[in-house]
Amino acid sequence: MPVPFFDITRQNNPLKKELDKALLDAAHSGKYILGPNVAELEKEFAIYCGAKHSIGVASGTDSIELALVAAGVKPGDEVITSPFTFVATAEAIVYCGATPVYVDINPQTFNIDASKIATKITKKTRAILPVHLFGLAAEMDKIVDIAQKNSLAVVEDCAQATGAQYAGKRVGSFGLGAFSFFPTKNLGCFGDGGAITTNDAPTEKEVKVLRNHGSREQYRHNVIGFNSRLDELQAVILRIKLPLLDSLIEKRRNNATLYYEQLKGIKQIALPFEPEQAKHTYNQFTIKVKDRDKLQAHLKAQGVASMVYYPISLHLQEAFAHLGHKAGDFPESEAAQKEVLSLPIFPELSKAEINEACFAIREYFQQ
Ligand SMILES: *Cc1c(COP(=O)(O)O)cnc(C)c1O
Repeated sequence: MPVPFFDITRQNNPLKKELDKALLDAAHSGKYILGPNVAELEKEFAIYCGAKHSIGVASGTDSIELALVAAGVKPGDEVITSPFTFVATAEAIVYCGATPVYVDINPQTFNIDASKIATKITKKTRAILPVHLFGLAAEMDKIVDIAQKNSLAVVEDCAQATGAQYAGKRVGSFGLGAFSFFPTKNLGCFGDGGAITTNDAPTEKEVKVLRNHGSREQYRHNVIGFNSRLDELQAVILRIKLPLLDSLIEKRRNNATLYYEQLKGIKQIALPFEPEQAKHTYNQFTIKVKDRDKLQAHLKAQGVASMVYYPISLHLQEAFAHLGHKAGDFPESEAAQKEVLSLPIFPELSKAEINEACFAIREYFQQ
């Protein structure tokens, strides 16, 4: 039996009638741009995240960029972030005219190592942009503390971690939250979508102005803005899926438990780590192994899909060559890129499929 890495149709099929009706109603409503479903979703999503406000935007990448602009990041500023993330995190910083300043990761959590942030703060630093990678919250108590002491903004890249918690609070409620509704994320739509969360009313207003061509009043443009609105049809889908999100996360966590049980005896594998203060959402279940490529080839031959997130740290990517980094600058991130392997973990994966994946892994290690 082949084991797929991801199959969204398993989530959508049982919702088909409900989705079809709601989508058709919205399609024939004539209200396509910033319609009633976007407004309702914004209220519902803010409540879910434990934030005062949320604003729908066109993608997760846009959510980071607009959050940075709203946080006051300007050309020439520096933004501290992780080199071990999806490219969009650093792209959004560069779109603002700012410079990504990387801080190496904690090899156990794959998240920015908060104890190394302070040494990278300069007069130009404007914000800290932690990424809650693979669905696990970064150390938000320490990060918020450093930011407050240095008067820096905090923008959380929550793209992979919708619903994740740190010290009992959801991500996106600590600083400005930047979320993605790309189909593979914890809460996904049928294309691109994103949202920003904030506890600050003026910031909410500012983001609403930014996403709509910098316009406070129709055809008066106060700042250079963006065309970055969450689509009404995507909001319809998200409103149907948001009430299911906690149960989808529990299914991911149950799948993770099955992996932990079956793989814990294999000493060549480092399993994902869940710190005490954090509730992991397992958007990815990412293990570390020394001979990663060989294991991946073995799994592929057995029909078990897997992915490498991410094979090249951002400081070594050609697109960021202008920053002047070289191999060796961030050793933990570079070690991770050689060893990480993400296994299938989506909520609707069956126990039999997980057993099959684990069997293939144990077979490889002859255990
Ligand atoms: C997916 C992702 C993004 C970008 O989201 P899009 O909706 O695809 O633009 C940003 N950061 C991280 C860490 C992501 O995984």
